[in-house]
Amino acid sequence: MIRANPLPNSNQMKLFKKLELFYNWVFTDKKTTAAIDVTSHCNLKCIHCYWWKEEHPPELTDDEMIAFMKKLRGEGLVAALLYGGEPLLRPNICEAASKIFDFTLIFTNGTLGFPEIKCQWILSLDGTREIHDKIRGEGVYQRVINNLLKTSHQPIVHITINQHNKNYIGDFLQEMNRQEIKKRIRKIGFSFYTPHMGSEDRELFIPLEERDRLVDELIAYRGKYKSIMGFTRRMGYHFKQTGGFSGWNSLDKCPKNETCTFYRSDGSVKPCTYGANADCSRCGCALVATYQAAFKDWDPASLMIINSLTNFSSISST
Ligand code: SF4
Ligand code: SF4
Repeated sequence: MIRANPLPNSNQMKLFKKLELFYNWVFTDKKTTAAIDVTSHCNLKCIHCYWWKEEHPPELTDDEMIAFMKKLRGEGLVAALLYGGEPLLRPNICEAASKIFDFTLIFTNGTLGFPEIKCQWILSLDGTREIHDKIRGEGVYQRVINNLLKTSHQPIVHITINQHNKNYIGDFLQEMNRQEIKKRIRKIGFSFYTPHMGSEDRELFIPLEERDRLVDELIAYRGKYKSIMGFTRRMGYHFKQTGGFSGWNSLDKCPKNETCTFYRSDGSVKPCTYGANADCSRCGCALVATYQAAFKDWDPASLMIINSLTNFSSISST
C-alpha cells in the first residue's frame, strides 16, 4: 500500500521558515526584514529617546500601511520589526503585521499591555523603578510591571545602558530575577546608547573605553543570572574596541543594513532604526552584536539568543 506523505504540521512549518530565514542571512545577500516605524506618535517622552530629536513625516493611513506591508511581504521580506514612537498606539496595524509576516517583533514601552498578537514582544525597561521613572516619567515602571505580571507572552526585556543607569545594572538584574518577574520574561537584552553624529551627548553616551569595562561587568553577571542574561561573552567581544567592534561599526559594514531595510511611518526609507544621524562609529546596538556573534562566529550561546527572538510561544504553550 502506498502511503501519502503527511503534510508538515505547523511546528515543522515554523522550523522550515526559521531555517530559511537563517540560511538567507548567512548565505545570500537577500534582504529578509523590514523595520517599520508604524507610528510617529508616542505616549511617553523619555529623556534618552532619539525619536524626539528628529522631524517625522505623516503616517500612512491604516489601509495604506497594510497595503504597504503586503507589498513588502510580496517582495520577499518575511520578517518585520515594528518600531515607533509606540507601535501599540496602532494595535490594528501590529495585528495586521503579525498576519502578513512570518516573524514579527514589536518594540514596546509596555504601558499599553501585551495584546493577543502572534509576535515576540521586546519590552524596553531602563532599570529599577527609580531609574526607569527618572527616564520615562513618574509611575511608568509600576504600570509596565503590572502589565508584565498579567501577560503570558514572555517578552524579551531590553535595556539601553547609558550614563543614568550604568551604575545600577546589578540592582536591575536582581529585580528581574525575582521569581514572579523571571517567569514572565524570556531574556534580557543589553544595548548601549548610540549618540548622533557630531554630538558628544555627555548626559547619555558612555565613552567607548568605559563601555569596554561595562561589557566585562555584563559578562561577569552571566555567572549569577545566566538564565535571564541575553548577553554572551562573544557578543561582548563585538562591542569591544579591542574586539570585533571595528568589523561592523559603519553604515557599509553594519549587518543590519545587509539584511534589513528601514522605513519611516510614511513608507520612505531611512538609513537606520536610530535615525538618519546615528553615529555608527559609536553604535551600541545589541541586535548587531548578537548577529555578529551568532552568524559570523557561530557562537552557540549567541545562536540560542537569536533563536529566542524568533520563538513566539507563550508561557502556557512552553
Ligand atoms: S517610549 Fe520609546 S519611542 Fe516613546 S519616548 Fe520612550 S524611547 Fe522614545
Ligand atoms: S547606527 Fe548601528 S545599527 Fe545603525 S546602521 Fe550604524 S552601525 Fe548599524
